[in-house]
Amino acid sequence: MAFEGLSERLQSAISQVGTGGTITEADLKQMMREIRLALLEADVNFQVVKTFVKSVNERALGSDVLTSLSPAQQVLKIVDEELTALMGGEREPLNFSSKPPTVIMMAGLQGAGKTTTVGKLAKYINENGKKKPLLVAADVYRPAAIDQLETIGRQLGFEVYSRGTEVNPVDIAYDALTQARMQGNEVVIIDTAGRLHINEELMNELREIKLAVDPDEILLTVDAMTGQDAVNVAQSFNEALDITGVVITKLDGDTRGGAALSIRSITNKPIKFTGQGEQLDALEPFYPERMSSRILGMGDMMTLIEKAQKDFDEARAAEMADKIKDATFDFNDFIEQMEQVTKMGSIKDILKMIPGMSKIPGLDELNVDDKDIGRVKAIVMSMTPQERENPDIISQSRRRRIAKGCGQTVAEVNQMIKQFNQSRDMMSQMSNGKTGGMKKMMRQ
Ligand code: GDP
Repeated sequence: MAFEGLSERLQSAISQVGTGGTITEADLKQMMREIRLALLEADVNFQVVKTFVKSVNERALGSDVLTSLSPAQQVLKIVDEELTALMGGEREPLNFSSKPPTVIMMAGLQGAGKTTTVGKLAKYINENGKKKPLLVAADVYRPAAIDQLETIGRQLGFEVYSRGTEVNPVDIAYDALTQARMQGNEVVIIDTAGRLHINEELMNELREIKLAVDPDEILLTVDAMTGQDAVNVAQSFNEALDITGVVITKLDGDTRGGAALSIRSITNKPIKFTGQGEQLDALEPFYPERMSSRILGMGDMMTLIEKAQKDFDEARAAEMADKIKDATFDFNDFIEQMEQVTKMGSIKDILKMIPGMSKIPGLDELNVDDKDIGRVKAIVMSMTPQERENPDIISQSRRRRIAKGCGQTVAEVNQMIKQFNQSRDMMSQMSNGKTGGMKKMMRQ
């Protein structure tokens, strides 16, 4: 999970000042030392750490933290606001041209995830603005890159403009733009060449492409796992190209988070998206305040809601809510809900977005994988349609038959049905307002 190490260290540093009773200046000093160490260990740029700790310290001393009865909450609030500011404050959305096509030029070192991000962005833009993107294969040095982009284009159903490896990339980019204008594509996303290291030849080529297509966005992809190197790369590309934003890829594998925390402050360019996996839907718009909340274990309900809304069918949800209320929620609905949730990503990551959940012991050991879901599905599939619609008729002899049908033990079938009944009752009680459970959870 992204930021895991940093998240733990920061939360433990802050909680050490206690949740009740006042604290001394020495306690505060000790906590600042720990915050500093946590950030340095997360590979955040040294200068950035220094400035950050200084401003948190000044604000803490200047406020009533020392006399407050809940110093930890006060410090948490200050750290949250400062982390948000460090990552850029407000979300910076993509800049769309008032005269389409909008041109997005991608840049980055080889292996940073540029080509994959072209596909992810195309999908994101298409889903969110219904724009028809044209993808442009201008990385002529790596024939595999052209094939890769063509595969991605086929997968997503978007056109890819490619002319092989013999044509000058500047001409490819320019001609692609002409074609997009003729065809009415609203967005053009250009995949440019990368190199293993920054060199003048690469920068010159990118400058020429920039000059030829006058992009609305120049997005640099950097690999989060490379930490401070990513920050240096961002600085060099920014000096050469005056980029408009950064996409931090592979945040799913980065437990430290140094690049995400340093880039904005070093380059003064916004992080616009983060890559959270290899799949083409693993791209998240970057919201500094949400990221800060997640790092500090305060959850991220907004992202959770948006993820849920993506595949949300309003009429179906209303139907489901009624079923929950009347306790007529059956096994068919159960499977449908389960599939819906797994579409949103790993269960563990979803739970962590709920406020207060990240602190629940044992969450890290929780590994609900596809196999568990497959097992539940297999049990449901062994039921007759009648049983699926009327869970209450499933007698002991029916359970034995179901167990045989799906190759599992009767105990496993019993357990699954018991869990189903419990959740059905709980959901029904909650939606009928018989318990304050959900409200209590939200207040935590
Ligand atoms: P390029 O050379 O910059 O075009 O990089 P590619 O798009 O070919 O990506 C290099 C590798 O990184 C591929 O194996 C991608 O699947 C992988 N990759 C890209 N973005 C992400 C991401 O956000 N998370 C993870 N885990 N892998 C990614």
